[in-house]
Amino acid sequence: MEEEILNFEKLSRLLEPSATERASVREKVVTYSEEFLEKIEEADAYKAEFKRDGSPLESITDETADIEELIEFLRERVDYPRLNPASGGHMGFIPGGGLYYSALGDYLADVFNRYAGLFSAGPGAVRMENMLIRWMAEIVGFPEDAAGNLTTGGSLAHLIAIVTARDAKKIHSAGGARPVVYFSEQHHHSLDKALRVAGLKGECEVHQIPIDERCRMIASELEERIELDKKAGLNPFLAVATAGTTDVGAVDPLEDIGVICRKHGLWYHVDAAYGGFFILTDKGKEKLRGIELADSVVMDPHKGLFLPYGLGVILVRDRQALYNSFYHEADYIPPSKDGDEPSPGDYSPELTKHFRGLRLWLPLKLFGLKPFRACLDEKLLLAKYFHSKIKELGFQVHPEMEPDLSVVAYRFVPKAIEGDLVKENRFNEDLLEKVNADGRVFISDTKLDETRFLRFACLSFRTHLNNIKVLLEILKEQTESLIGYEIPGADLTHDV
Ligand SMILES: *Cc1c(COP(=O)(O)O)cnc(C)c1O
Repeated sequence: MEEEILNFEKLSRLLEPSATERASVREKVVTYSEEFLEKIEEADAYKAEFKRDGSPLESITDETADIEELIEFLRERVDYPRLNPASGGHMGFIPGGGLYYSALGDYLADVFNRYAGLFSAGPGAVRMENMLIRWMAEIVGFPEDAAGNLTTGGSLAHLIAIVTARDAKKIHSAGGARPVVYFSEQHHHSLDKALRVAGLKGECEVHQIPIDERCRMIASELEERIELDKKAGLNPFLAVATAGTTDVGAVDPLEDIGVICRKHGLWYHVDAAYGGFFILTDKGKEKLRGIELADSVVMDPHKGLFLPYGLGVILVRDRQALYNSFYHEADYIPPSKDGDEPSPGDYSPELTKHFRGLRLWLPLKLFGLKPFRACLDEKLLLAKYFHSKIKELGFQVHPEMEPDLSVVAYRFVPKAIEGDLVKENRFNEDLLEKVNADGRVFISDTKLDETRFLRFACLSFRTHLNNIKVLLEILKEQTESLIGYEIPGADLTHDV
């Protein structure tokens, strides 16, 4: 038997490359990534073509490949076609980031592979994640003993929040008054998904609260609706406000909604996936006033702190509520001892997990907060700048007033087709396609009341004034080429 085991060992040891082999692969990987980063300022934000046919390198067999060949595959098939989220020209969807030191944090987390699910196994890793959660709880104004969890993103964080609210408010599928959830008309679809996954779709009413002309939930309408529903014998248990909507970046009246939720005994959840970290700035803090009244808040460091994709956070005011929904016991898991810190495994559906705190901690420690704050302030001003300039170019903007945060919806209506919504929408869809075909920028679109709007969303740490100027020039050029004449009075040269 020993001989057989040793035979296997010989092969299985191939999984441990020598220092020389590691250095050789690492150097090629680093060279490849440096080549990308060195040219990131000039790199396209969008490249339309990609190969749809398969490649032999795609499948998994006993065959081995060498790193050069694999890097070529990545270069050709993976890392360049379509959207380049690392580019400062990415101003569509909600842009992500890609701070380099996060990648190094991931590198260390992966090499050491500390167990971050359980305090007794990886106390240092768990303490770090708990400290980061406490820091984020503090910046939103939660009490010191608030709980939370680092998730893969906002959607999973919402799911955790919905499940916690469901359990805390004792919502069961059998019996009792029919539960009601309140969203704004502009809520993010990940909340509908979370409701469905949490088994609440069909088990509760979802009431959509109307928005005002700035796309913010009308708090008085929420209160009226709650009162009506209570009178009708329903059980209102959860309201969700958004701090930065996806379509226009609107911030709901967080304080008013919080007061209403307290008064009527509802769980108050705030979706700050996009807008939450603006609270680090003075302007953002003012906009987000009232977020501290929430029972739970979702934020996305992979948006607002410019991390590479893969990090969201759920914060819950009542530690016990989060624990009640997710704690676990098993004979093969050591119970916690006095003096132990809480384990992430007791506050999320996960057990074994990526030590994802390190990708947040490393850049925050190496840079300090100052450049993050400046970068967020810069984004707020760039959005104001864009809002003002695009109006000068003759575009309609929505809302008409200055943006709450860093998203602006806009559209061009050529005189010749004014009043024909189908044609107007078509025109803006064509314009979007032409702008993205240029490659230097990437923009996205949405519909507000059946009207097609283009979206400017500014959140990449690599987006600076020059990117906005390029976007405005492309918009002007492509609009003029579609309408066939120059936009009268358009002047991109002066400051705002
Ligand atoms: C991005 C976003 C989400 C979803 O978060 P993911 O990290 O993409 O899962 C939810 N709500 C808002 C407002 C968002 O911008």
